[in-house]
Amino acid sequence: MRRAVYPGTFDPIHLGHVDIASRSAAIFDELVVGIYDRPAKNLLFSTEARIDLARQALQGVPNVQVMAYSGLTVAFARQSGAQAIVRGLRVISDFEWEYQMALTNRELAEEIEFVCLMTRQEYAFLSSSIVKEVALLGGDISCMAPLAVIGALIEKRKELEKQRGAVPLVSLRD
Ligand code: ADP
Repeated sequence: MRRAVYPGTFDPIHLGHVDIASRSAAIFDELVVGIYDRPAKNLLFSTEARIDLARQALQGVPNVQVMAYSGLTVAFARQSGAQAIVRGLRVISDFEWEYQMALTNRELAEEIEFVCLMTRQEYAFLSSSIVKEVALLGGDISCMAPLAVIGALIEKRKELEKQRGAVPLVSLRD
């Protein structure tokens, strides 16, 4: 049984993530999408909401499960019985970061392999921050995000407008 973990913040999941998860699920027998509980980022969605949106987005892929984790990603991979950690690459800066993380994680857990999949060209520009920024400013994100996420961001926009009268911009950096 080959099992992999695909960890990330997924705030929220978008079509680039769905593509990496679907392609990984075709390589491995089981894929566990790990939603990192407390990243050093400002989050728009709660952990529960991020899990729920990822589950809805990936419901068509039978060998994928979604769960939250905290602490070290390699510890989560070990607990999940995974042999590999999957990540997605868009640009050179992603590679530099993933390379550093892969070497660090190898020091911590030599038996866990790192597998990086290249993005599809149509998703190369896509990040959760871009999706949030466009959606919260009222733009069309139908080519960027799954249906559940589109609905959740419309609700979030209404909520934020009610609270503050204006939609605050989120950081554009992932
Ligand atoms: P993290 O905070 O761990 O970077 P993200 O939710 O931003 O979490 O991303 C999770 C993973 O998905 C990372 O490996 C990231 O590089 C990858 N990823 C993000 N966007 C895309 C995309 N458009 N195409 C391919 N991979 C992507």
